[in-house]
Amino acid sequence: MSTTLTSRLPLRCWAEIDLAALERNLRLIRASLPAHMRYVAVIKADAYGHGLPQTAARLMHAGADLFAVATLAEAAAIREIGPGWPILLLSPLLPEEDRYLADYDLAATVSSAEEVARFDAVGRAAGRPIPVHLKIDTGMGRLGVWHEEAPALWEKIRAASHVRLAGVFTHFASPDDDLAFTAEQRKRFLDALARCPGLPLDDLFVHADNSAGIETMSGAGLFNAVRVGLLQFGILPHPHSLLAQVRTEPVFSFHTRVGLVKKLPRGTTVSYGRTRTLNRDTTVAILCAGYGDGLPRAASNRAQVLVRGRRCAVLGRVTMDQTIIDVTDVPGVAAGDAVVLVGRQEGAEISITEFSGWADTIPWETLCSVTKRVPRLYRTALGV
Ligand SMILES: *Cc1c(COP(=O)(O)O)cnc(C)c1O
Repeated sequence: MSTTLTSRLPLRCWAEIDLAALERNLRLIRASLPAHMRYVAVIKADAYGHGLPQTAARLMHAGADLFAVATLAEAAAIREIGPGWPILLLSPLLPEEDRYLADYDLAATVSSAEEVARFDAVGRAAGRPIPVHLKIDTGMGRLGVWHEEAPALWEKIRAASHVRLAGVFTHFASPDDDLAFTAEQRKRFLDALARCPGLPLDDLFVHADNSAGIETMSGAGLFNAVRVGLLQFGILPHPHSLLAQVRTEPVFSFHTRVGLVKKLPRGTTVSYGRTRTLNRDTTVAILCAGYGDGLPRAASNRAQVLVRGRRCAVLGRVTMDQTIIDVTDVPGVAAGDAVVLVGRQEGAEISITEFSGWADTIPWETLCSVTKRVPRLYRTALGV
């Protein structure tokens, strides 16, 4: 909802998406990888809440080689703006969705012989082969053929006249905190490939690494592509990530405004459930944002926000449309003041990782929880 009839109204709670930063991030990530590495841009879930069409267009402009999404609707949204752009579906297709592979010209993820047969039938009906990426389960326990059974599935793909292998991949379960298991997954994957005779590796996308995986990718070996989601949005997969050296910048920031300022006496309880009692005479500000916008209720009594460049604590429960903060120590706060929930203000910063921690969640989920009520405003290099 970047342009709607209501967009002339003043903003109450909004997200800013810095497309120029997104482009710089892709180029930085690329520059940190071996030159032959191809870039699979993961833009599922509305491009992690950043807005799918805008993000896709900018990433393609910046040199993405392939887009990965979860659903047909997401694939269709990309296809709408990018005829011919390569797209990989990461999720399993429902049987009645199969025919859209041909209609939308998509590559499918294959984990089973049954899927090979289904996609072969679609290719036959369409008169051209359906590209597929063979997914190998090396320990995630989600999609993919179990690694020991990968050679048998490869034989099925090879025998299918209307399925064309375009890639092979796996997915890590704990790339951020279990290096030994990640190494074991890499080994299982490479061993499985070695047991697939005639695999045309030079013609395939061979990929395993998501954002956290990249960190442990020592020497690419057979791998010739990465699948990047979070990192391209300027967010590190974990707080001590070595990827900090790549110096990507946050693309997303989250903003609201002060709706009311008032004084409350010491001893007053604040918000639903009376979970907070003021221990001093307090100046509170009521923010124009709540969980109806994506400020999680789980962050009640824990989150902080930036007002006039100063950190202010959330008091009591976050409610659907309003949140109460303590501005006693910040002089001059007034209705209409800009408030930063995630991002920078006058030299102070709240990262999405810190924000997510207040709600016991992760940046991936926080980005998916910014609601439809929140307009996304796109900032570009030209400042328009
Ligand atoms: C979401 C996803 C990614 C991207 O992961 P990030 O940690 O956001 O980089 C990569 N591969 C698969 C299969 C995914 O589902």
